[in-house]
Amino acid sequence: MFAEWYKPGGCLEYPLMELQFIRAKKAVVSNASMWDTLKLLPQEVVPKSYSNRINTTSQCESFMHLHLGFDAEGIRSDLGIHHIVVNDWERGVDADQNVVLISVPSVLTPNLAPIGKHVLHAYLPGTEPFELWEGLDRKSAEYRNLKAQRSEIMWRAVERAVGPGFSREKCEVKLVGSPLTHQRFLRRNRGTYGPAIQAGTDTFPGHSTPIPHLYCCGDSTFPGIGVLQLLPVVQL
Ligand SMILES: Cc1cc2nc3c(=O)[nH]c(=O)nc-3n(C[C@H](O)[C@H](O)[C@H](O)COP(=O)(O)OP(=O)(O)OC[C@H]3O[C@@H](n4cnc5c(N)ncnc54)[C@H](O)[C@@H]3O)c2cc1C
Repeated sequence: MFAEWYKPGGCLEYPLMELQFIRAKKAVVSNASMWDTLKLLPQEVVPKSYSNRINTTSQCESFMHLHLGFDAEGIRSDLGIHHIVVNDWERGVDADQNVVLISVPSVLTPNLAPIGKHVLHAYLPGTEPFELWEGLDRKSAEYRNLKAQRSEIMWRAVERAVGPGFSREKCEVKLVGSPLTHQRFLRRNRGTYGPAIQAGTDTFPGHSTPIPHLYCCGDSTFPGIGVLQLLPVVQL
């Protein structure tokens, strides 16, 4: 059912473009993260002070994701869209394997899933250390086992939030994303949530760079992580 619904044609499809070079007359604006932008620049045009600042900026941790598709039958009808499960308040909301965020958008917008089904996304919000995953072969048993081990906390939170009608065995779609997934699909250095710059102690960099005609925007620039900071860019 889900496989049929997801198949290309039902979703947006873009033809693959051939490699193209576009020459900018006025400026280039990058909204890739500061680390990913740095990697794209020829070393000889980058002042040492600029690369040093980027390479010494601390990063927030990465994410674990759990995407599920399951039958709505037996699930309580008053299920809410958003749930936050905090396992131990003493450990704080930025401790690893502690806080799970869950959204079930199909409770509000049923056509986000096939008729009679729900889609659910659970994630660990920027608390999964990339180091645990670094260098693992995504096809290895070690990687699969680590995914099973580190996603267990999300499964338990989903069982708690969705209630007794939910069964993990009956899920028709089960996709676990790791920091390596996050790095690969979002093309973010080390799958990071973004720069770990603390309000009150430091500020996010501005939008100009020491490289003439190169500007940066997005969550590596002021005012920092979050979708709101994208609005000024959209308004330009
Ligand atoms: C699970 C999750 C939940 C979140 N929840 C919230 C929330 O509730 N509220 C909120 O305000 N914020 C939230 N955020 C944060 C917010 O989504 C991000 O801060 C924001 O989307 C960052 O946007 P951006 O355009 O700066 O970066 P990105 O969205 O990372 O965009 C950068 C783009 O650059 C592309 N790119 C990288 N390298 C290249 C290259 N070489 N060539 C071409 N393209 C390249 C990438 O593919 C990517 O599309 C959340 C983030 C996550 C991961």
